[in-house]
Amino acid sequence: MTHPADTHCPYCALQCAMTLTPTIGTTDAAASASPDAHVHSAPVTVEGRDFPTNRGGLCKKGWTSAELLRSPSRLGAPLVRGADGALHEASWDEALDLIATSLRGIRSEHGADAVGVFGGGGLTNEKSYLLGKFARLALGTSRIDYNGRYCMSSAAAAGNRAFGVDRGLPFPLEDLDGADTILLLGTNVAETMPPFIGHLAGAQAAGGLVVVDPRRTATARLTEDGKGLHLQPAPGTDLPLLLGLIHVVIAERLVDVDYVESRTVGFDRLRRSVAAWWPERVQSVTGVAALTIKRLARRLAAGGGTYILTGRGVEQHVDGTDTATAAINLALLLGLPGRAGSGYGTLTGQGNGQGGREHGQKCDQLPGYRKIVDPEARAHVARVWGVDPSDIPGPGVPAIELLKLLGVPGGVRALMVHGSNLVVSSPNVRDVRAGLERLDLLVVCDFFLSETAALADVVLPITQWAEEEGTMTSLEGRVIRRRRALTPPAGVRDELWILHELAERLGCTAAFDTDPALVFEELRLASEGGLADYSGIDYDLLDRGDAAYWPFPRGGRGTPRLFADRFAHPDGLARLVPVTVRDSARPTPAPGSDEITLVTGRLLEHYQSGAQTRRVPELLESQPEALASMHPATAERLGIGDGDEVEVVNHRGLVRCRARLTPDIRPDAVFLPFHYGDEQAANLLTSDEVDPISSMPEFKTNVVRVRPVADA
Ligand code: SF4
Repeated sequence: MTHPADTHCPYCALQCAMTLTPTIGTTDAAASASPDAHVHSAPVTVEGRDFPTNRGGLCKKGWTSAELLRSPSRLGAPLVRGADGALHEASWDEALDLIATSLRGIRSEHGADAVGVFGGGGLTNEKSYLLGKFARLALGTSRIDYNGRYCMSSAAAAGNRAFGVDRGLPFPLEDLDGADTILLLGTNVAETMPPFIGHLAGAQAAGGLVVVDPRRTATARLTEDGKGLHLQPAPGTDLPLLLGLIHVVIAERLVDVDYVESRTVGFDRLRRSVAAWWPERVQSVTGVAALTIKRLARRLAAGGGTYILTGRGVEQHVDGTDTATAAINLALLLGLPGRAGSGYGTLTGQGNGQGGREHGQKCDQLPGYRKIVDPEARAHVARVWGVDPSDIPGPGVPAIELLKLLGVPGGVRALMVHGSNLVVSSPNVRDVRAGLERLDLLVVCDFFLSETAALADVVLPITQWAEEEGTMTSLEGRVIRRRRALTPPAGVRDELWILHELAERLGCTAAFDTDPALVFEELRLASEGGLADYSGIDYDLLDRGDAAYWPFPRGGRGTPRLFADRFAHPDGLARLVPVTVRDSARPTPAPGSDEITLVTGRLLEHYQSGAQTRRVPELLESQPEALASMHPATAERLGIGDGDEVEVVNHRGLVRCRARLTPDIRPDAVFLPFHYGDEQAANLLTSDEVDPISSMPEFKTNVVRVRPVADA
């Protein structure tokens, strides 16, 4: 295979378009010459391709993505743990037979729910769909969930509550180009998805880019030189800040009254709920000046095209759903959602974070974004699957609860992991690791021996993005094609094939196609009539380059812009939902102590747990280790110098790393990137307490101490 392939980046939800051109002498020849050997893919050249979201641009991660295809650490054969405790190469038949035999034994001894499945937001739509079907029909378990609980669940819950549907951006990204004012809450797009910032230029030119972040990030610096405003609230105070903005909008009669009366319900209760959040009080909680809050409220209400966008910074909290809800309330009061040239949206992070939450990986959902407890939804999906509705298990438990069940009596004895590196990315990873070690069977599908794969009983090596066909759904809700540029190495397999083989070995008679086009055809039928309706989309349409935004009903058209006439609740109206600050929601540093707030987040060079990007030499060289970013004043008080080795510690664990002193962070906070494993895993310190609505863990504000290693 030597022709160029138009595809998209393997990493984040911006899904930048790229063209991959195999270099001369590709794996076809190599693979056929040694079909059972550990053959690595030949490299491809990567070029950015013009597309509305990235306009030809890529970031460092995209430019270097092909490095992973020929990585010397790529797995080339299944690994099975032997009696000596080590992982040894095995044939595919040996590995799959072992998994099937173990699963059958565990099911017959402990019941079907003793088997769990953990999916990922990076899987293609086809894999996400088939994994949900596999869990329910081939394993008969209700216990499936995925790592989207770590990133999008709060925003999704808030969107569903307010609008009746959750699509990250309910408008094309290009709409931002005409904005006069853009409020970015808790998102560092300049590092996480750099080509995105091209869409901020209009707001910058109008002096209307507003960034809310406790750190002066690369995105916050885009507001400098008169291009906007950076608000640096105390970590974890986004909710009171938003309540303060809502208070001012109501008090100063900035509400779009016609819009609120005709398109929403719940205004009176909302008005009463924010009465006590006057700006001066909000200032005392957040540290943001009352006058700044008032000016920002007026700016947002001034018209000329206003967008409010949220990210993980405001959502990854135990009150993340309420915080995202407050942002939506603000947008609704200003009449933004559904109005041309304005809007509210949330920026999905993982590559298929949007599609990954639509097709049945979530414990409470069936394909098409259907509720698993809805009898009509069950009947529809059962028809497509050719089973009785009673054959589909009921709702399972969300990710964190699932992980707490690992290896405990009555809990999960076997876990299959797809697209997740749990012992780096989960909160309170020490407990997660202990749970994985208690299992009778851990199966991990991965390209590399990630920190989680290293604990597995069986590791199955899988294809990478440049070696497979499929679809992804970008942060705009646009379905796009992933295309194969290379023949995979001989020893790896596509996860569709793996699920097919296991289903057969488990005696499941339902269809598990291995051709992604056929799986997509089935997904279309299963999604038909659901909120995320893909029934009008097919590969031919996508290959013609047509823009396919869901919902896209059969025989109809796609929907680039949602909410123009109505919201997705049965009455067509949006909900204004009063939310309050719960003082007990999260622990805060004790006054007068050395405790400070740990903020976690991402770096330009790395993606998620770093399992991939830490294996790209250029990226690792740029950011080889976790650094604890601290304000110089804080460091001086604690006797810490720039580059000193420190311990960041709390009752859950300890991270040992070097300090990086910067005035770009508040003195009451320390920042750790979450891309590193082992003793540098930031999630050794994070809490597995969850938001009561979304089950999102508290990643963003945890209490720690930082101390020089010499004093430890
Ligand atoms: Fe890939 Fe995201 Fe970078 Fe674009 S911004 S190249 S999609 S990682």
